[in-house]
Amino acid sequence: MTSSRIDSIFTPGLVAAQQPQWPGGADGEPIQKAVAQLKKLPPLVFAGECDNLKARIAEAADGRAFWLQGGDCAETFVAATADSIRNRIKTILQMAAVLQYFASMPVIKVGRMAGQFAKPRSNNDETRDGVTLPAYRGDAVNDLAFTLEARTPDPQRLVQVYNTSAATLNLVRAFTTGGFADLRQVHEWNKGFASDPRFGARYEQLANEIGRALEFMVSAGVDPEAFKTVDFYSSHEALILEYEKALTRIDSRTDLPYDVSGHFVWVGERTRQLDGAHMDFASKIQNPIGIKLGPKTTPEDALAMIAKLNPSNEPGRLTFITRMGAGQIREKLPALVEAVTKSGAKVLWVCDPMHGNTYETSTGYKTRKFDDVMDEVRGFFEVHKKLGTHPGGIHIELTGDDVTECVGGGEQISEADLAGRYETACDPRLNHTQSLELAFLVAEMLRDR
Ligand code: PEP
Ligand code: MN
Repeated sequence: MTSSRIDSIFTPGLVAAQQPQWPGGADGEPIQKAVAQLKKLPPLVFAGECDNLKARIAEAADGRAFWLQGGDCAETFVAATADSIRNRIKTILQMAAVLQYFASMPVIKVGRMAGQFAKPRSNNDETRDGVTLPAYRGDAVNDLAFTLEARTPDPQRLVQVYNTSAATLNLVRAFTTGGFADLRQVHEWNKGFASDPRFGARYEQLANEIGRALEFMVSAGVDPEAFKTVDFYSSHEALILEYEKALTRIDSRTDLPYDVSGHFVWVGERTRQLDGAHMDFASKIQNPIGIKLGPKTTPEDALAMIAKLNPSNEPGRLTFITRMGAGQIREKLPALVEAVTKSGAKVLWVCDPMHGNTYETSTGYKTRKFDDVMDEVRGFFEVHKKLGTHPGGIHIELTGDDVTECVGGGEQISEADLAGRYETACDPRLNHTQSLELAFLVAEMLRDR
């Protein structure tokens, strides 16, 4: 299919928020060259996989599956190493095993991975010691180092995003189908975690319960082959529209456009203007899509987004990822859920307990409190319980490494500890231990719901 057909799909002239100021301008030679390169490259995912994911989201929206989405706030090129990728996958698989057991339903595993390289920013610039430079917008755009050269947007980085995503996805696929993800192996890791003396018996009992269930299944002759491979999907924020459009292709099976840069893409809180270019983009692709909803979202906004993105009420098409903050979720979420339910629209409700709970310490670290994160998830479950709707999943910024970026949790990371291993390129992530604790605590909520 010709690229001019793709280009004509999107409405021209709309305002696109949060775009980089490319050297040479938005239509200049440097960005056009990168786009031309990207348009020639093969898809990173197959459109049929996006359809499979959509079908699974439809199940989750109906209360028959639970969504687990996690990964870095901002992936970086240097962190796309075997160790870092493996640790992130391992963490998500460990969380999924716990959630799956206590939810008694399948868990849809989705990485903020293999494409999460671009960031919206509150300010265009950053000033340090009287020097003002363009803000870091993710490795897709510029470099974190605070020099003019590093901070100048470079469109060739978009080609590097593609290549790094391809390499990451290749390893993800190898790990999740090549034996690494075997449920018994994952359980061994969880036993190791649960026997950590810092947590006492709290998680050990839960882990033992899973162990007994596994032993029972094996002794009953359940085919161990079924434990060996898992579906794992990739997702990222569809932010840099040149990149996403260059990777939008007409699917040969259906003759419809899919963004083949990832299975699932979402539109962020800062770019979801109803008449903006991001919402136009999302409305034109066939992928399952997510929209972030912050505390200012009104029921009318939510209904207008549904009308724009899923007028035919296709099951699995639309996921609302709410990020209200622990202090506001119980007050703000009910009106949205009630209005959507009343309209008859089918959406998956997912809780992002990270982005409404960020604050800066007096020492200048952006952080989040583990207790606030847990409280927002708890509020999310409470609201859905009261309204008789399904708390469909969680969206978490995490890493598999022992970083010190969020405070609290069983390791009792304090604000003074943050300096020890603060490695994120953007927002603070739960570390490996905090992520597993969260999974066990959410599993208890799922069991008790
Ligand atoms: C994010 O997910 O990293 C993000 C920027 O979220 P939000 O759009 O909800 O602020
Ligand atoms: Mn973030």
